Amino acid sequence: RAYIRSASKMMRDRLSPGYLELVRELGKIADAMGLEAFLVGGFVRDLVMSHKNEDFDVVVEGDGIAFARRFAQVHGCRVHSHSEFGTAVIIMEDGFKIDVASARFEYYASPASLPVVETSSLKMDLYRRDFTVNTMAIQINEKSFGTLIDYFGAQRDIKAKAIRVLHNLSFVEDPTRVFRAIRFEQRYGFSIGKLTSNLIKNAVKMDFFRHLSGRRLFSELKLILEDENPIGAVDRMAGYNLLPFIHPDLDFGPEKQDLFESVKEVLTWHDLQFMDDSYMKWAVQFLALFHGFDQDQVDAALLRLEIAPKFHDLFYEHRQYGRQCLYRLEREEKIINSELYRMLRLLPTEMLLFLLARAKSKNAKRRLTRFLTELKGVACLLSGKTLKQMGIKPGPIYKKVLDAVLDARLDGKVFTFEDEMALAVRLINNANA
Ligand code: ATP
Repeated sequence: RAYIRSASKMMRDRLSPGYLELVRELGKIADAMGLEAFLVGGFVRDLVMSHKNEDFDVVVEGDGIAFARRFAQVHGCRVHSHSEFGTAVIIMEDGFKIDVASARFEYYASPASLPVVETSSLKMDLYRRDFTVNTMAIQINEKSFGTLIDYFGAQRDIKAKAIRVLHNLSFVEDPTRVFRAIRFEQRYGFSIGKLTSNLIKNAVKMDFFRHLSGRRLFSELKLILEDENPIGAVDRMAGYNLLPFIHPDLDFGPEKQDLFESVKEVLTWHDLQFMDDSYMKWAVQFLALFHGFDQDQVDAALLRLEIAPKFHDLFYEHRQYGRQCLYRLEREEKIINSELYRMLRLLPTEMLLFLLARAKSKNAKRRLTRFLTELKGVACLLSGKTLKQMGIKPGPIYKKVLDAVLDARLDGKVFTFEDEMALAVRLINNANA
């Protein structure tokens, strides 16, 4: 099939009507300002590949910030702009965000020192992108609405299922693209092209990553670990010998691959069970990646990745305490609910899921799932307020009574509010006796 020149039908078919209307509105503002405007990047890639994506990235030939402001003025929404980059974010009333960038006309001397050439600013903008598959644009001005622009063979490479950089210095310019290449390859079931693959090997050999900040390295790794198929991606990183850039001792042997498989199962189970993905998926994967590391090794990896101090507890205290818990969960013959609750309630979801992935025995698995599904959310009906109403003087007795009532509830010894009251009264009388 010939390559597509118009994306209008695709947009009509695949975008929800509200979004299509929004794109038309963006186009109208561009028309009114006499600017050429385009949708670019991941949105266009995913549209052509029939993947859902409603992240709009707009490039305007001219002043993108003025464009964003005008749109916001007409449509009553907010704008955040970064004048040093010529970028802006339009924030719609419902929170929906649209990224806007400015492409400016640029003049450059051609290699043979021929006269200075003016090139289309959109083309230059697209040329600076990471991979050919990300270089398509769709014009949104009314007169040419939907025209698909493909300067660099994006459709050819989508057909060939290939991730390719645009030029040989791409990884010199930005080594994080190596990680992005792996992420896109795994996400779409593509392959990194031969030349691109050689350029990655060269980047590894020449140690391009030495000067890469931890923050940027971490944010790319996080994206990889949050994506659909982290196992394939980590395997590719290992294959290209990229893991040592995180820590010299980091490997991805069969044992760790099994652990990753097991983490994947646990996360799928958790997300289905609770319909909640508010925990940090990447952190569970990092725990798996660092499995077998001693504290010094973890220390060095966290330092390299500049992982923020607020996450350190998970990799220090919780990791250590989690290990002790798992030891008990695997071996102890009897652990009643209240004991299990007191043991595990100190651990964040990320660590509990990691422990579940590591658990070997039926007992340990059952205990962890019981805590997550049945015990974690249990609370007693009685509260400090009730005790106050009973005329008990506030003090350490409150915690003692409430803890004991909660234990009794967890262990199935009280059911109703009256049961709890009776128990509280008994405890208070005993304490006073
Ligand atoms: P995702 O679906 O994961 O969000 P995306 O393609 O939308 O993927 P973003 O990280 O949101 O990725 O980036 C938007 C666009 O900006 C990309 O399509 C890509 O063309 C470009 N881009 C992002 N990071 C880089 C980079 N490091 N070098 C060059 N271009 C980049």
